[in-house]
Amino acid sequence: MTVKDMECQFCCRGKVVETEEKNHVTVVLGQELIITEAIVGRCDTCGFVNYALRKDVAEGDSHAEN
Ligand SMILES: [Zn+2]
Repeated sequence: MTVKDMECQFCCRGKVVETEEKNHVTVVLGQELIITEAIVGRCDTCGFVNYALRKDVAEGDSHAEN
């Protein structure tokens, strides 16, 4: 899943820019989760993280299992 030109869901003004981050810390269901190699969709205006995916999952797209 790769989203291009996505609008920030937090400020509704910024553009979500996809970046690679190592050891990205996210919170899922109240629990901290560290993604060692993450694809992070971060807003270029407010810095809000709209999504964070594991890199291997994001790149495994072509033979996706839904
Ligand atoms: Zn924003």
